[in-house]
Amino acid sequence: MRIRDVVIGANASMYYKLNFRKIKGVYYPRNTQEVIGAVKHAQSDGFTVTPKGGGSGLSGACTGGNDERVMISSLQMKEILTVSKDQGYVDVQPGISIDKINEFLNPMGMRFYVAPSSRDIATAAGVLSTDGGGNDTWVNGTMRDNTIRVKMVLYDGRLLTIDAKGVKSNDPDLEARLNEIGVTLHDVASSHGTLGFITEMRLLIRPVVEETLIGGLAEFSECNALGKVLTDMIERTSPVRYGEAITTAHKDVREGFDPPLLILEFPEENEVDIRDITDYKPLDSKELARMKDIRIKLPKRNPNEGVQFALFEGYGFHGDSLLNLQDSLNEVEALLNDHGMKPFGKYGHGPSKWYLGDNTPTYGLILHSREIRPEGKTGEELLDTVLAIVDKCEELGVTPKPEHKWPFSDAVKKKRLDDIRQVIGEGFNPFLLSPECNDVLGSMV
Ligand SMILES: Cc1cc2nc3c(=O)[nH]c(=O)nc-3n(C[C@H](O)[C@H](O)[C@H](O)COP(=O)(O)OP(=O)(O)OC[C@H]3O[C@@H](n4cnc5c(N)ncnc54)[C@H](O)[C@@H]3O)c2cc1C
Repeated sequence: MRIRDVVIGANASMYYKLNFRKIKGVYYPRNTQEVIGAVKHAQSDGFTVTPKGGGSGLSGACTGGNDERVMISSLQMKEILTVSKDQGYVDVQPGISIDKINEFLNPMGMRFYVAPSSRDIATAAGVLSTDGGGNDTWVNGTMRDNTIRVKMVLYDGRLLTIDAKGVKSNDPDLEARLNEIGVTLHDVASSHGTLGFITEMRLLIRPVVEETLIGGLAEFSECNALGKVLTDMIERTSPVRYGEAITTAHKDVREGFDPPLLILEFPEENEVDIRDITDYKPLDSKELARMKDIRIKLPKRNPNEGVQFALFEGYGFHGDSLLNLQDSLNEVEALLNDHGMKPFGKYGHGPSKWYLGDNTPTYGLILHSREIRPEGKTGEELLDTVLAIVDKCEELGVTPKPEHKWPFSDAVKKKRLDDIRQVIGEGFNPFLLSPECNDVLGSMV
């Protein structure tokens, strides 16, 4: 095994048992021409291509599965290319992190408003490919809402420029065929590197908003009441700037607070609107900061017994499953118990926005969870549990955020990507769309 393989194999998902011998080439291109060269190597030898950014994705997509593959990293493509404060955009290379973009924009009084917790390592192209966002997606949308256009290299070296309206290409025939089937930026969002390698992105930037925020804590006796408050906020397009729900926390990690609860922050002038929705307890800025800190540290702490495990990230509760949050959670919890898992923390962004596989925007609560990992479970058994939760969620009308659900289900998005790949070629990350995807990932846990 070579050191470069280990470096390129590192990823944050639970799928880390890689067969390094199947990696036939590792490229760190600096520009589009070098990307084309790397893709040509793969194509001429019949290898697949896996694009990789910061490796912080949780679905295993950047591993490339077990294909004989060429890995192309964007980590030598981190430049800011152009910025226009007046027209509100910045052009960047794909491998720049969100934090670096904002470090650059900050002195100009401008900001790129997409904030996943992983923003220090996640790259612009990686975040678009998983359609990520942070706890401000409710206000600012997900990555696709903040991307104006992308440039991409396909498996046969042809080039595409894609925006919200359609496609331009250096091949007029290809351009016409893709526009005929209505390909837009929405198809690239959450495509998990299955279409091509993104080489350049134009991102929407906006002035930094200065506003006075206040906030507090809403506590509930059970989660249905919490679900009702979030539903009201969504229906009234409430001006919440920060909303974090904690529904479960083991006594070792809860630091005195008592879930279910909702930590809230909103503009001072909207105090009456929020009070009308929920009877929250106001907190001064120091207490509010402490609560936010407890929340952010929750997944990083471990109860005194067992080893924690991020089994399945991002349950998306919306509609009835949000209104009946407690009942939905009880069912998921019972399933976890049946599989030997003990949930010890559930927390997440609410209200939140994400997209379904048919590109419909959806609003609800994205709830993450941590479990205590049972001893002696095989990878296949753990993946079985994930798949059982996906099925249970579909039954309950809980739609996990695409990042986490997508490789295992979401037939609509898969079908759409299949259709586009019939036109542009199928050399990028094919394992994710193959019927064997779950077996491959199961063998990698
Ligand atoms: C601690 C932690 C916190 C997190 N918090 C959040 C959060 O708050 N919100 C959220 O949405 N997500 C979160 N995530 C998930 C993760 O950060 C995102 O999935 C991230 O968007 C992936 O970016 P990346 O650069 O690391 O991509 P990678 O993991 O390297 O790749 C992800 C996908 O993008 C594709 N890809 C990468 N670069 C390119 C390219 N140039 N062209 C085409 N395809 C490409 C890959 O093939 C792969 O399919 C978190 C993850 C961790 C570990």
